[in-house]
Amino acid sequence: MYMYMHVGYVRCLKFEKKMGGSIKEMKEEIINNGVGSATATKIRALVVDDNKVNQTIHHRLLQSLGIENQVVVNGKEAVDVHSSGKYFDLILMDMDMPVMNGIEATKKLRAMGIRSTIAGVSTHSQDKEKKEFMEAGLDDYQEKPLTTAKLVSILHKINHTG
Ligand SMILES: [Mg+2]
Repeated sequence: MYMYMHVGYVRCLKFEKKMGGSIKEMKEEIINNGVGSATATKIRALVVDDNKVNQTIHHRLLQSLGIENQVVVNGKEAVDVHSSGKYFDLILMDMDMPVMNGIEATKKLRAMGIRSTIAGVSTHSQDKEKKEFMEAGLDDYQEKPLTTAKLVSILHKINHTG
């Protein structure tokens, strides 16, 4: 099966992946085919999570796919970093955080005109909460723990407006 994976604004990489191939192989292909090395297509990500373990997992998963990323500890910091003029292709947004939660932060970012792909990553699985989070302006939602497979599926949703 052929999988087309969009990894930036200007180029898409093609991966030939045999049915039943492992995520490890997919990851190697991603690395070998230059998500990390192709500066023209470099994706920048922001990790928003108050939990240190999650911060580390999300940071390392992104890094393992060659995606440069910054970590902030709550929704307010996510808003502030955008107010200071930074832009990210992808935002991994936790829901429950002190100071400002993920729902409020997502609403604020969308109200600011931020069009980045925002993926909610949360342990909450109640439909009502998930719906509220989605309606705040998410492009995707994944249950924790985040895995390479889940991250790859999020990467498929990165906007190609450039
Ligand atoms: Mg949290």
